[in-house]
Amino acid sequence: MNARRIAIVGGGMLGMSLALRLARRGFAVTIFEHAAELGGLAAPWKLGAVTWDRHYHVMLSGDRELRALIDELGLGDRVHWKALRSAFYIDGAVHPFSTALDYLRFPALSLAEKLRLAATVAHARRERDGRALTAIGVEPWLRARGGDRVFERIWRPLLRAKLGDAYDTVAASFIWATIRRMYGTGAPQRFGYVEGGYRTVIEHLHALLERCGVRIELGTAVQTVAACDGELGLLAGEQIQRFDRVVLTTPAGIAARIAQALSQEERDRLRAIRYQGIVCASVLLDRPLGDAYVTNLADETIPFTGAIEMTALVDPRAFGGRHLIYLPRYADVNDSYYLAGDAELRIAASRALARLFPAYAPSHVRAFRVSRVPHVFALPTIGYAGRLPGFGTTQRGLYIATSAQIVDGTLNVNETLELARRAAEHIVADVHFSDAAVHEAAG
Ligand SMILES: Cc1cc2nc3c(=O)[nH]c(=O)nc-3n(C[C@H](O)[C@H](O)[C@H](O)COP(=O)(O)OP(=O)(O)OC[C@H]3O[C@@H](n4cnc5c(N)ncnc54)[C@H](O)[C@@H]3O)c2cc1C
Repeated sequence: MNARRIAIVGGGMLGMSLALRLARRGFAVTIFEHAAELGGLAAPWKLGAVTWDRHYHVMLSGDRELRALIDELGLGDRVHWKALRSAFYIDGAVHPFSTALDYLRFPALSLAEKLRLAATVAHARRERDGRALTAIGVEPWLRARGGDRVFERIWRPLLRAKLGDAYDTVAASFIWATIRRMYGTGAPQRFGYVEGGYRTVIEHLHALLERCGVRIELGTAVQTVAACDGELGLLAGEQIQRFDRVVLTTPAGIAARIAQALSQEERDRLRAIRYQGIVCASVLLDRPLGDAYVTNLADETIPFTGAIEMTALVDPRAFGGRHLIYLPRYADVNDSYYLAGDAELRIAASRALARLFPAYAPSHVRAFRVSRVPHVFALPTIGYAGRLPGFGTTQRGLYIATSAQIVDGTLNVNETLELARRAAEHIVADVHFSDAAVHEAAG
C-alpha cells in the first residue's frame, strides 16, 4: 500500500479500536483527541476520592467483540460477572422487576396487559432482522402489540426517558434493538465490569496502541480537514499536518464542521442527524440504597431517567467502602435540566432519591458531580437508515465512521467495536482498490 499515513479524529472507543486495526494492517496512524485523555464517553473521572467511569458502564455476557478485546488486552481474568436485578418505580413505589414472579406480582398492569407486554417482548426477540422496523414508528408498533394502556403506563415513560419529546419520531427498530440486547439470547443475562472500571480497558488499549506505533495527540481539537495538493491537510491548533487519509469518528455535526473537503450535500446530511445528549449526576453515598442495578423511573415528575446503583454490580471496596449511584437524564442541550446549575441538580437528585428510597438522607452523600454531554447518540428516527452517510465520501481519502452509523443498535461499546471493524475493512479495501487503479494506470 502506498497511501499509508492516516489520521483518526476522535480518541473514543471507536477511534482507538479503529486505530489498532489499521496499525495492524500497516498504516502509520495518528489519533487526534480533543480531551486530555483517551476514552470519550467511556473515560473516567474523579468523584471525591474515587476514580470511576464518568458514565455508568456495564458489559453483557453476549458482548462478543468487547470480550475479545478485553481478552486481547490480557484483562479477561479481571472481569467480574453477576446476574443483576432491576426495578420499576411507578405509582409512587419501587417494584422489583427481574424474575417471572416479580412480573406476576407487578401491580401496575392487569394480567391481560402483562400477557400482551410479554408477547411484545417475545415478538421482538423472535424478529432476527430489525431493518424493516427502521421504517415504522415505535409508538404505533408498540400500541399495536401491547395495547394503549400498556403503552401509556410502561412504554411511553420509558421512551420519553431515553428519547425525550422526540420519541414519537423514532423508529420501532430502537425498541427492537433494546429488547434484543437485554433478552436476546433467552438465557438469563449476566453483567460484568473490569476491575478499575473502563479506565483499566482504556489504559491497556492506550499502551497497546503505542506498542503498535500509533501516535497519539491528546488535548488537540481538529478544526478543519481540507484537500491540499493531492493530500489531506488537517488543521489542529496552529499547525497543518498532511495525511493520505483521514477518518472522522466524532459526532456527525462536528464531522460536518471539520470536513470542509466534503460537498455541501454531504455536510447537510451529516448536520441533519439529530442527537440526544445527557445530563448525568454521580452520587457517592456512605451506604447502599436498594438491591437493583437499574430502577426504571416511569414517573414524569421525577426529572431522571433511572437510578443506576453501580455498587449493585461493583464491589464497594472499589469505592473505598462507599456506594455509587448515577442519576441520568437523557436530554437535548436546550432542556431546562441540562441547563441547570450543579447546585440545582443536587437538590433535584436528593429529592428523587428520597422519593425512591425512603431510607435515604442528604447527609449520606459524600460526593456529587454532574456530567453534561451534548451528543451522546443519534436519534434513530423513522427512515433514518436510508439517510445515513456511508464510510466513504466524495473526497478521496476522507472517511466518516461515527456511532450514528449504527442502525438497529442501542449505543454500546460492543456495537462501537463492530462498527470499527467494518470501517477498517472498508478503508483497507478502498486503499487496495486505489493502489490497483494507480498500478493499472502506470502499467
Ligand atoms: C450515560 C452513558 C451510559 C453508557 N452505558 C454503557 C454501557 O453500560 N455499556 C456500553 O457498552 N456502553 C455504554 N455507553 C456507550 C459507550 O460509552 C459508547 O458506545 C462509546 O463510548 C462510544 O464511543 P465513540 O468513540 O463512538 O464516541 P465518543 O466516546 O463520543 O468519542 C468521540 C471522541 O471524539 C472527540 N472529539 C470530538 N471533536 C473532536 C475534534 N474536533 N478533534 C479531536 N477530537 C474530537 C471527543 O472528545 C471524543 O473523545 C454509555 C454511554 C453513556 C453516555
